Amino acid sequence: MTTFEKDAQYIAHTYARFPVEIVRGEGSLMWDAEGKEYIDCASGIAVNILGACDPAWIAAVERQLHMVQHTSNLFYTRPQAELAELLCQRTGMKKVFFANSGAEANECAIKTARKYAADKKGADCYQIITLINSFHGRTITTLAATGQEGFHRDFQPLTGGFLYAPANDLEAMEKLVAEHQIAAIMIEPVQGEGGVLPLTEEFCRGLQKLADQQDILLIVDEVQTGNGRTGKLYGYMNFDLHPDLVTTAKGIGGGLPIGLCMMGERVENVMTPGLHGSTFGGNPIAAAGAISILSRIDEPFLAEVRKKSAYLKGRLTGAPGIRSVSGMGLMLGLETVRPAGEVIDRCREMGVLAIKAKDKVRLLPPLNIPDALLQKAADIILKAAGED
Ligand SMILES: *Cc1c(COP(=O)(O)O)cnc(C)c1O
Repeated sequence: MTTFEKDAQYIAHTYARFPVEIVRGEGSLMWDAEGKEYIDCASGIAVNILGACDPAWIAAVERQLHMVQHTSNLFYTRPQAELAELLCQRTGMKKVFFANSGAEANECAIKTARKYAADKKGADCYQIITLINSFHGRTITTLAATGQEGFHRDFQPLTGGFLYAPANDLEAMEKLVAEHQIAAIMIEPVQGEGGVLPLTEEFCRGLQKLADQQDILLIVDEVQTGNGRTGKLYGYMNFDLHPDLVTTAKGIGGGLPIGLCMMGERVENVMTPGLHGSTFGGNPIAAAGAISILSRIDEPFLAEVRKKSAYLKGRLTGAPGIRSVSGMGLMLGLETVRPAGEVIDRCREMGVLAIKAKDKVRLLPPLNIPDALLQKAADIILKAAGED
């Protein structure tokens, strides 16, 4: 049986996969089972930040593989402690909880917010406002946090305690805050799955003020926007935001599963022994790899990301077949004249991997994609989106 046939027979049908079997990657290039080469403008959904098989990342992971692969959180491990230190130094956050995925990172933020509010404002204060069109994960609670009806439909009843407000509508947010007891507000700086839609500066400023005035925690979901993707280390750093809880996953692991929740001053001591945990969380191999990734996302690196972003936006904006370009950094959404799926298929046929976000073409290349490859990818995307 081919891989496609085995997949069809034995793997749960939860994915609409592209008809490509990836066998190998190097930097921003990928090869399929037939030897066809692709420029990777998807990075495994914003995961392979430094491309495939980055040598320094491999060395860091390999070194740890030969030390010990896992210990559980009943013991101390050096990579976990060093990664937490690095994260706190780079963000000003105070503590880190380690998990294995974006959804789990968000579960931690939600639990922390609920406990903070219950302790401080009483058991009736538990509502969390999220944004319409948001995406926060696939567990029953993070589905509830996800402000998209389509994701909720088949899985009722979801975890209660979530309210939804339209993005960039401060008045609607203020109204919810006035009418309910709110523990936290949870946002993505750029809505990823929702269509690559950035928040506005004005909305963020108002949100921060509201949170400060009402002692409402601000949770920023940086699972996709984090780790340099938007041209800043974390997406919220593009705005005037001082979050209490920041979650991330995807890119920080460089390809290995890791998720984490950073806690600011107000909530750093909310979680106490026994309240939360994870068997694999902060696994030493994933943590060693993450240190290698994070320590290289420095200011000069981020300046390069912004330069590449400006180049790509410049090439695509206003081009034939492209109605609009949204997003920040190397997280861009294209509204195209042809259906997005068709543009993505045409890109793939011509050797560029891209993915969808709602009805847009989403581009998430490795942050270190060489300029020559980015140029070549832009040429192909323009051809795919344009007339025949
Ligand atoms: C991908 C994503 C998640 C879920 O992450 P998983 O690792 O798939 O659980 C949560 N929030 C955002 C913003 C995401 O993009």
